[in-house]
Amino acid sequence: MTTEIYLDGNATTAVLPAALRAAVQAMEHCYGNPSSSHATGLKAKALLDGVRARARRVLGADRGRLMFNSGATEGIQTAVLSALCAIRERRVAGLPTGSLLVYGATEHKAVPESLAHWNRVLGLDLTLYKLPVGGDGRHDLAALRAVAPDAAFVCTMAANNETGIISDLDGIAAALDGSPALWMVDCVQALGKLPLRLAASRIDYAPFSGHKLYAPKGIGLLYVREGAPFTPLMMGGGQEGAQRSGTENMAGIAALGAVLAAVEEGGTFRTAAELAALRDQVAAALRQALPGIVFNAPFEQALPTTINFSVPGLSSKELLDVFDAAGLRVSAGSACSAAKAAPSYVLEAMDLPAWRSSSAVRLSFGPATDAATIAAACERIVRCGDALRLAGMLAEGIAGTAALDGPLQLTAAGVHTWLVCDAASRACVLIDPQPALAARVDTLLGSHGYRLVARLSTRDGASWPIDGDVLVLGARRLRRIALGSASLCYVLDNADGTPSHAFAGGAETAALAALLPPETLLCPGFEEQSACCTSLRVALAGQNASATADMHLDGQALDALLRAHPDALLVDVREAYEHAAGGVAGLSAVSVPLSRFAAHLPAWLGRADDAPLVFVCRSGNRSARAAECLRRHGYRHAYHLAGGVALAA
Ligand code: PLP
Repeated sequence: MTTEIYLDGNATTAVLPAALRAAVQAMEHCYGNPSSSHATGLKAKALLDGVRARARRVLGADRGRLMFNSGATEGIQTAVLSALCAIRERRVAGLPTGSLLVYGATEHKAVPESLAHWNRVLGLDLTLYKLPVGGDGRHDLAALRAVAPDAAFVCTMAANNETGIISDLDGIAAALDGSPALWMVDCVQALGKLPLRLAASRIDYAPFSGHKLYAPKGIGLLYVREGAPFTPLMMGGGQEGAQRSGTENMAGIAALGAVLAAVEEGGTFRTAAELAALRDQVAAALRQALPGIVFNAPFEQALPTTINFSVPGLSSKELLDVFDAAGLRVSAGSACSAAKAAPSYVLEAMDLPAWRSSSAVRLSFGPATDAATIAAACERIVRCGDALRLAGMLAEGIAGTAALDGPLQLTAAGVHTWLVCDAASRACVLIDPQPALAARVDTLLGSHGYRLVARLSTRDGASWPIDGDVLVLGARRLRRIALGSASLCYVLDNADGTPSHAFAGGAETAALAALLPPETLLCPGFEEQSACCTSLRVALAGQNASATADMHLDGQALDALLRAHPDALLVDVREAYEHAAGGVAGLSAVSVPLSRFAAHLPAWLGRADDAPLVFVCRSGNRSARAAECLRRHGYRHAYHLAGGVALAA
């Protein structure tokens, strides 16, 4: 089993053992309501006051408001509401206010979204101005100086969550000199990583989230400068000096207190120099593993705990998948945007080339990370590089790369390009090549030493390279068949001359059925036609949903099945590099990526023994498609591990 190495500290962190103990202690022995006047309440109040006093020392906030809340998103709302209410009051009183709500182009989405929301709700009709950043990710101070006289409220961050870029807060303060603007600094990524002296600065509002520094989720802090306007977001029982009503999250506050104690007393978190040395070690491993890697933020201006990088020819998803398979948890940009396949707006704001902002990976570790964890992470990073190299995903291939034989499916935006390879002669043809896949195909063929014989299209026959209708690819034969005047189908034959695969683009199944035997496998041009590939017979019959009802196995059912059926074959349908990087939870499995399914399906369907086939992948999606495909073709004993190897491990 691969143990997890968590390198996504900017998204959230594990809870520090001391913080966990403090939370449990609070729940067990200090469960009182700090507003109660009896002894149990007083005990809780003492805990609350103690943590606040410590927070004041750690943040350099001996003056001003410092309230506990649920986290930075709430702190940002409160700051925005406070600033905008103050602007409204000045406007009502006929006093001058600026007209601009200025925010850095690389701010966390919580900032512009809150500005737009409260501007709308309060009917202020102020103008949102996105302050540009330079190529180094830092705010454009000249642009800020230009708008400062008309700025009503300025929002910047102390350090960026995607790149780790540290803002020039002194420069921003100087640019705001003489401006009437209120100023919020999102300090989420700075806590425990950068020295803060809030009360000595002109910062009006500073929100924090405990879970970015080893406290649990659901506890945060908001600092408000002495004399800065304040409007509570939450009204009710008057807790937190009526600044934030609602009974306090005492377990969270106790845990945050333990983290702040660790910051104040030292010994738990690495120093900036130690963290920079760990970062350099990781960067060296990344350079070794991933040739051509570019780092998207200059190290000297970034938090030493954040590394943002892109690798030519590899998407964020491919990198995330191989890292995940190796037990390394990293993310593409921010955690909030990881689920969406959009390019990083932070890197776009830095004007990086499109390929870098759409393929970036963020690796971030917390300041408590130890040298042994980093050493283990580096080993795995190198292993990921080897796995990618072996699968022909990196420009520099290595000898002994596993040969490609038969059809290989490559997909871009739901459209398939097929590569038909003959391992013996190292010859191949491409069917319906797409520009988006050109670099991938070049790398794949270059690293495997394959010769491209033709680039064929199912829409026109002009690129067919010979006079006759049968193209010989080593031991394989590819035939072209015209389907009416506007489309073509390419048919790969078995050694005995019977058709095995039909590369049919968008052709109608009925048209193909008239020409080819029913067991021919369709290799279509579009995703919606078939998830993996489908025989003509099954495509014509349609799906039988009830045949898949019992194919989902949980970890226990998988164990039971493997014990009862020693002949069962476990098939890892993740990409070859994922399989090579991590294996399958200590089980022995063969690697057949979904992209190679068309090549392997005939052999499985031809098995006489009907032994169980169990498919596995990372999350259970790809393996479900694989098992479903086998079931549709009448293979009764096809199963998959629901939830994927993540849940099995
Ligand atoms: N600001 C920054 C810079 C962040 O990184 C985050 C979290 O990712 C937030 C604000 C929002 O914090 P939370 O989701 O804890 O409220």
